[in-house]
Amino acid sequence: MTTETSRRRVLLKLSGEVFGGGTIGLDPDVLADIASQIKAANQAGVEIAVVVGGGNFFRGAELSQRGFDRARADYVGMLGTVMNALALQDFLEQQGVSTRVQTAIAMGQVAESYIPLRAIRHLEKGRVVVFGAGAGMPFFSTDTVAAQRALETKCDEVLVAKNGVDGVYTADPRKDPEAKLLKQVTYQEALAQGLKVVDAAAFSLCMDNNVNMRVFGMNDPGNVTSALLGEEIGTLVTS
Ligand code: UDP
Repeated sequence: MTTETSRRRVLLKLSGEVFGGGTIGLDPDVLADIASQIKAANQAGVEIAVVVGGGNFFRGAELSQRGFDRARADYVGMLGTVMNALALQDFLEQQGVSTRVQTAIAMGQVAESYIPLRAIRHLEKGRVVVFGAGAGMPFFSTDTVAAQRALETKCDEVLVAKNGVDGVYTADPRKDPEAKLLKQVTYQEALAQGLKVVDAAAFSLCMDNNVNMRVFGMNDPGNVTSALLGEEIGTLVTS
């Protein structure tokens, strides 16, 4: 039996796009698939924290272009991430995976507040912890929150699941047909070359604190489980 201290603990970042299956709202088939993939790794003994995005509902920057005050639009965006967190919790619980949601904006009837030490305790007990409402602060992104939560809850690695791209490329593969997938890259290189697959702030936080990040695509079946188990898919980003 593994001891508590020897278990692999990871932070999985799921962008909102994933939950909508390419459209606005929630796709139950996608949710069931992600939940079963998380379950497989959870049963293998991996401690799993999840940060969910909200782009399948609202992005603050897009709303502000349509006349909303930016900060208020960002709060709307954060509330979207809470809907994704609850949806993921529901599908995980349906599959028998004990799950807690913690939000950065207090909403006691819906979820626990973000309390890092309590989150760590949940992880040690084998529960999946889903963090919603981002950092609770406008002008931030959930990528940056993923890095911050990983650091504060002492995760070994940040796993960034992407839709439509399977890792870090030398250029944007959707625009440049010559772009090549990198198996490994340093944070410095990614920042210097402006590789924008993950926010620069998230890269910086992980670089400064020596936490590796793996960026991988959701497109291949089973990739979430593979990444959670530590298999070498996508791109490893290191200090
Ligand atoms: N957001 C925010 N502060 C945070 C995290 C998120 O203001 O700490 C808002 C922001 O408006 C963002 C939206 O929530 O556009 C959804 O998050 P994000 O765009 O990171 O989601 P993803 O692109 O991963 O789906």
